[in-house]
Amino acid sequence: MSDTKKVAVIGAGPGGYAAAFMAADLGMSVTLIDPEVNPGGVCLYYGCIPSKALLHVAGLINESAEAKNWGVTFTKPKVNLDKLRSWKNDVVLKLTGGLGQLSKQRKLTYIKGTATFVDNTTLEITSGGKKTNHQFDNIILATGSRPATIPIAQKFTSRIMDSTRSLALKDIPNKLLVIGGGYIGLEMGTIYASLGSKVTVVEMTDGLLPGADRDLVKVLSKRVENLFEAVLLETKVSDIKEQKNGVKVEFEGKHAKNAGKLYDRVLLAVGRTPNSTGLGLENTKVKINDRGFVQVDEQRRTDEPNIFAIGDVTGEPMLAHKATHEGRVAASVIAGKTAAYEPKAIPAIVFTDPEIAWCGLTEVQAKKENRTIKVARFPWAASGRAASLGQTDGVTKLIIDADTDRVLGMGIAGHGAGELIAEGVLAIEMAATAEDIGLSIHPHPTLSETIMETADLLYGLSTHYHRPQKK
Ligand code: FAD
Repeated sequence: MSDTKKVAVIGAGPGGYAAAFMAADLGMSVTLIDPEVNPGGVCLYYGCIPSKALLHVAGLINESAEAKNWGVTFTKPKVNLDKLRSWKNDVVLKLTGGLGQLSKQRKLTYIKGTATFVDNTTLEITSGGKKTNHQFDNIILATGSRPATIPIAQKFTSRIMDSTRSLALKDIPNKLLVIGGGYIGLEMGTIYASLGSKVTVVEMTDGLLPGADRDLVKVLSKRVENLFEAVLLETKVSDIKEQKNGVKVEFEGKHAKNAGKLYDRVLLAVGRTPNSTGLGLENTKVKINDRGFVQVDEQRRTDEPNIFAIGDVTGEPMLAHKATHEGRVAASVIAGKTAAYEPKAIPAIVFTDPEIAWCGLTEVQAKKENRTIKVARFPWAASGRAASLGQTDGVTKLIIDADTDRVLGMGIAGHGAGELIAEGVLAIEMAATAEDIGLSIHPHPTLSETIMETADLLYGLSTHYHRPQKK
């Protein structure tokens, strides 16, 4: 009898395929099950990748309009929607096809289908209309999440869209209402506004991107004032009625006077719900909490010792890189290695214009937890690279432990923040102090220098921003 471990992974998103690839690389016999023809999950088919392809084009359109300030004028862009859509689809096909190839190279069994639990070691796999039972030593649950709804808009239609429908880019509505000022709403709003829609964003709380530090959000809020037709904060949608000529929306709260307005389309971006039902989990000891997330320990093990769970189905933050990391931890644990999911910093990026990124401790969180911290903020107006890019409204900040000077968090608002934030993750994970960052030579002229100068600023020693330390 072979002693090769048989592992099944349910769901081939960034969590599931990373776990499956790692398990195969570590010598296990792996079966990966997902309804799509190739791995990719929400992230590649309906999330991260298509949205970022379209945001790239949105950035291009916005930057060419801005170029008039630098003496270069372009004519108004003509958008060939069919071509744009097929380019975006090609990007997705190329990447998911690549994952298909990587699965073959690793000789794992990929089944286009769905799986449910018969018991803790048996899966019923439905593929091509046939149901068959299969036995595994270990199972990794990576079924992800789906768009959440609100009671007044339970059903998605061609006019009331979720993020998946909005990414299909059927047309460019004249008037679009985005419900929810979180990252998905703002990213999709940016895409449609850049392509020509009049976009209104409505958000229940008193600011965009609830949970993020306000000084970072302020940079974005100023810019979206120009891009969007309106941002309605502290306002709730109380009713939505689809009519022949549009969607009639009623509001409550600060901007209730907008009530009764007609929109061509409405995008509901109010969060995501874990896919933890209909999986036969009741046939196992796996436990689900009151928000529908599967309960796991640091090794991503569920209450059923041979079943692991990773990614969106296990809880916040619902991000692809968090899912991937968890997947690799679970595969390592199954292989008998010492591994645990214990990140000190998970980066979050909002790919708007400008980008907002943060990792580790935020100021909002520090306040809630009564932590004693020091904060240094470096305005991009003092950065040569930011000036040469016409991006002087950005800001870089560091959150530092007041006793040890260890870097606990980093936040950036500005061009390329998403690429820059990786330095913060490394600094936090390596227990760097602000002095370590200040003493590391950063290349000139780059936006990365703003991180070094933020650290110098903490000691009143920034070269390009004179703020002497108080004696
Ligand atoms: P998923 O990617 O959700 O994959 C789960 C897979 O499991 C799916 O393919 C599903 O069909 C399959 N499945 C479900 N049930 C079964 C079953 N019974 N049997 C077999 N298969 C099943 N994250 C980022 O980090 N960066 C971004 O820029 C970003 N942008 C986003 C933009 C949008 C518009 C959206 C919607 C999301 C975005 N996300 C982003 C979030 C990201 O997509 C998710 O965090 C990530 O996909 C979660 O990965 P996962 O592996 O947990 O599950």
